[in-house]
Amino acid sequence: MDIEQFRKAGYAAVDSICDYYANIQNVPVKAQVQPGYLIDQLPTSAPEDGQEFSTIQQDFGKLILPGITHWQSPSFFAYFPSNSTFECMIADMLASSVSNPGFNWICSPACTELEQVVVEWAAKLLGLEKTFWGSSGVGGGVIMGSASDCAFTAGIAARERALRDLALQNGVKPSDKNGQIEIPDTIRNEYSQKLVIYGSTQTHSLGAKTAVMLGLPFRAVPVSIEDNYALTGASLKEAIEADIAQGLIPFLVYATVGTTSTGAVDKIDEIGGVLTNYPTVFLHVDAAWAGVAYALPEYRAPLELNGVNKYADSFCANFHKWGLTTFDCSIFCVKNRKDLTQALDVTPTYLRSKEADAGTVIDYRNWQPALGRRFRSIKLWFVLRSYGVKGFQQHLLRGIEHCQQLEKIVKQSSKFEIVTPPSLALIVFRLNPAKSQENANIDDDELNLINQKLFTALDLRYDIFLTQTVLHSKERNMFVIRLAMGGVHTKFSDVENAWRIVEEEGEKVLSEWKAQKAME
Ligand SMILES: *Cc1c(COP(=O)(O)O)cnc(C)c1O
Repeated sequence: MDIEQFRKAGYAAVDSICDYYANIQNVPVKAQVQPGYLIDQLPTSAPEDGQEFSTIQQDFGKLILPGITHWQSPSFFAYFPSNSTFECMIADMLASSVSNPGFNWICSPACTELEQVVVEWAAKLLGLEKTFWGSSGVGGGVIMGSASDCAFTAGIAARERALRDLALQNGVKPSDKNGQIEIPDTIRNEYSQKLVIYGSTQTHSLGAKTAVMLGLPFRAVPVSIEDNYALTGASLKEAIEADIAQGLIPFLVYATVGTTSTGAVDKIDEIGGVLTNYPTVFLHVDAAWAGVAYALPEYRAPLELNGVNKYADSFCANFHKWGLTTFDCSIFCVKNRKDLTQALDVTPTYLRSKEADAGTVIDYRNWQPALGRRFRSIKLWFVLRSYGVKGFQQHLLRGIEHCQQLEKIVKQSSKFEIVTPPSLALIVFRLNPAKSQENANIDDDELNLINQKLFTALDLRYDIFLTQTVLHSKERNMFVIRLAMGGVHTKFSDVENAWRIVEEEGEKVLSEWKAQKAME
């Protein structure tokens, strides 16, 4: 493809994107294809001769779009939103026009410096204190591809920090005047298999996954319904003390602000308070979904921002969920950048540069496991400038308002109940015939069964998309349904429509259940 062919094909691509968005509310949110649909339509190896680009481009509409689940659809209420904006589509196109792997400052100075600037904009937007800002010279932020990458990176940083602490306690002396501690193999061998990670039963799978990758145990501390599924300081302390009594070494806690199942907010203040007694333990706060809501000052206290600022060693928020930034854009901020670089700076001669040797630049490869990295900051830069803080806040408030309006409707329903207080733009509910007095005795298992039936019915539909979850707690396990708002194209009428469908399907499940009861 030459420049003029690109110009034409590029304009055509933009036209088809515009058509797609002009019609998105009329397309069923879920892909209506069966497994293997695409594999069966494509040749089994690449063509010998090059093909006409217009044909290739048409196949996107013919073959790919039918197999797309429309995350930007106004009827997408599953998982969490993963909003995309036109600003970011242009940003991605421009970023790929100057494609480069960005691992060192010298790879493209703009990539590193724009990232430093916008990640600090983001930190300030969310009310993170100066200690997390790059301009402090001590802390700083980086953009990663996912909250899981952030958590894994925090895990490696935490392990290396703990081993350095243990080396110091065992009399190892710093190897240079900067106080760099080399961890001797003897220390690593003696202690690294005793390390333990903590989270709660509500922690995202990233906790257990990091544990697998590091080859260490993960303690999923139980939570209770009366705490609204939040991890408390007391439960954490109990788990930590039990491990210490066994000769194990707690070194990492994953606390969550806005859990995936219910949007629960762990008691960060309590947890941080407990951890002051265990200074080797690293606290990572996973605010993947809810973190952007810190942009609203009135939500900082309920989301325990003070605790984050006071106690967290690292913090993650996904701008690629609710935060208007096209996937992927995970903000990862640390209070001490050396926690990252002392674990991840491995510099063979071919990666050295005079600027890095002089200590005047950041080479982001030393802040992450991978070497190469995408130019993601341009997306966030465009979004924050185009929306402004006010526009960003208004977008968040719209999702929260939709949720509050829906909450009123569900509360008035005679069949449905909200199982835990709605969190920001997430509502979690279930069908409960006992809500209207007549059928007051119904046990947990039966309720779970009814709700599984309801979810199965909803999941067979293509016009709305919701997700299921099971809430594990000290008291009971509850099968429930989640409805996550905050989509950039979602209007309240779309939420009402989704709820109408839920009620219809619920009605059917209930009458079947009643008929069955009558036969027993
Ligand atoms: C979505 C989510 C994650 C996972 O995010 P990725 O960026 O896909 O890794 C982790 N934690 C919480 C609380 C989430 O909501």
